[in-house]
Amino acid sequence: MPLKIIICGSGIGGLSAAGYLRAKHHVTILERGTLDFTVNDYGMSIVSNAFNLLQRAGINPQNLDMVVPTHVWRRTPNNEEGKTSHFDTRARFKGAPSVLVKRAKLQGELMRFATSPEFAGAPAEVIQNAKVTKVDTAAGKVWTEDGRLFEGDLIIGADGINSVVRAAILGDQDISASVKTYDSLAFMTQLSIEDIRSDPSFDYLSDPATQAGLASAQASSGPQVNKHIIAYHTSLNSLQVFGYTSEKEFSEQFDSAKTAIIKDVPASRVIEEFAPEFGEGFINLFRHNTKIDAWRIRDVAAMDNWFSGKALLIGDAAHAVTPLAGQGSNMTIEDAEALGYLLRDVDSPDAIPDILRKFMSLRKDRVDLVRRRSHEIGGIQEEGHEGRKRISPEEFARKIDTYQGVEQALNGPKHPGRGRHPK
Ligand SMILES: Cc1cc2nc3c(=O)[nH]c(=O)nc-3n(C[C@H](O)[C@H](O)[C@H](O)COP(=O)(O)OP(=O)(O)OC[C@H]3O[C@@H](n4cnc5c(N)ncnc54)[C@H](O)[C@@H]3O)c2cc1C
Repeated sequence: MPLKIIICGSGIGGLSAAGYLRAKHHVTILERGTLDFTVNDYGMSIVSNAFNLLQRAGINPQNLDMVVPTHVWRRTPNNEEGKTSHFDTRARFKGAPSVLVKRAKLQGELMRFATSPEFAGAPAEVIQNAKVTKVDTAAGKVWTEDGRLFEGDLIIGADGINSVVRAAILGDQDISASVKTYDSLAFMTQLSIEDIRSDPSFDYLSDPATQAGLASAQASSGPQVNKHIIAYHTSLNSLQVFGYTSEKEFSEQFDSAKTAIIKDVPASRVIEEFAPEFGEGFINLFRHNTKIDAWRIRDVAAMDNWFSGKALLIGDAAHAVTPLAGQGSNMTIEDAEALGYLLRDVDSPDAIPDILRKFMSLRKDRVDLVRRRSHEIGGIQEEGHEGRKRISPEEFARKIDTYQGVEQALNGPKHPGRGRHPK
C-alpha cells in the first residue's frame, strides 16, 4: 500500500520531496500562501551536487532561464584583479553543471516535477492558502488556520526557517527560539546586464553567455566587522548584488517588526556603509536600482533530532544555514532525494521510524559541514571551536559538490566525517 504523506510547505524542499515521493506514495502539500512563479525574487546557486540529482530526476534546464557559471572572480575593494578561478563543475565532476537561477523559476519547474502527469506516480495535490497552525506528531495530524484537519502516515515539515512542525517536534511553542542571528545582514539589489555594461571595469561580468559567475571583494573595518560585496549572474539578463556588513541600527528594526527583511533601504545608507572601504566600482552597483532590501543573516541551531513520532523535518526547517556557502537549497534537494530513495519500497507505516533514523544519520554530517563552512566564510566564530582548522575550499568542493545521491552515499565511504553509514 502506498503511504499517505502530508508535506507542510511548497518551497524548494516541499516540491522536490513531493516530486521524489509521488512515484510510490500519495502526497498532499499544504502551502500557507498562493504560488506565483512569475515573481522576480532572489537568485541562487544550485551546485553540481543538487543539480545533478534534479537532472537525473527529469528537471528540464530549458525551463529555468539559468546561467552556467564558469568563473569566480576575487577582486580588490577597488575592483582590481585578484585571484580568478575557473568554476565549471562540468569539467571537474563527471559532466554535472552548477547553475545560477532565480528561485521562482526553479520552484515552477519543481511544481512540474511534483504535479505533472509526465512523471511517475500520481500527481501530488497542492493545497494553497492552507497555513498549518498545529501538528500532533504522534498521531500524524495537521490542522490549518481555517480549521481543516489532515491525517497522514508521515508528516514532512518543509515549512522553512520558522517551522511550525519544528516547534511541534521540539515541544517548543516559540518557533523562533532555535533561530540564531549573528549581528550580520546583507543589503540586496538586482541589476540588469545593461547596468553593468556602463562600467568598463566590470567587462568581465558583462557577457554571461560566454563567461558567467560570481565576483567578490572583501574588506574589514576594524577587527570585528567583515564587509563583503558579491555580485553574480542570475540569468542571461540580470545580476544580483549582496553587500554583507554588521546589522547596526537595523537589528532593532528586525526585532521590533519581527521580520528578517527590511524593504526599500535608501541607496545613500548603503553607500555610506561601504564607501569608506570600497572604491566607486563596487559602490556604484548600489546606485542603479533604488530597490534595496536588508536581509538578516540567520540559521537554525544544530539539532539532535529532526523527527518525532510520524513527523520529520527537511530543508530549512531542519537545518537552515547562513547563505555564504551557497548550499541551503542544495542540502534541501539532497534531503528530498534521500527521502524518496529510502521510502521507495516502504509499503507499511511500521517501517517509518527506522527510515527516519536512517535519514538523519545519512544527512546530518553533510549539513553540519555546510553550516561550519558557511560560518567560516561569513567570519562567524562558533562557540567552543576557537582555533579549529578551517575547511579549505578544495576540501569543501570535494566533499560537497561531488555528491552523487544517497544510494552511492550508502554504498561507499563518500560521505564526509564518519566513513561508512549503516545499510
Ligand atoms: C538571500 C538568500 C540567498 C540564498 N542563496 C542561496 C544559494 O545561492 N544557494 C542555495 O542553495 N541556497 C540559497 N539560499 C537558501 C535557500 O533559499 C533555502 O535554503 C531554501 O529556500 C530552503 O527551502 P525550504 O523549502 O526548506 O524552505 P523555504 O524556501 O523557506 O519554503 C518554505 C515554504 O513553506 C511555506 N510555509 C511556511 N510556514 C508554513 C505553514 N505554517 N503552513 C504552510 N506552509 C508554510 C512557505 O510559504 C514556503 O513556501 C538563500 C537564501 C536567501 C535568503
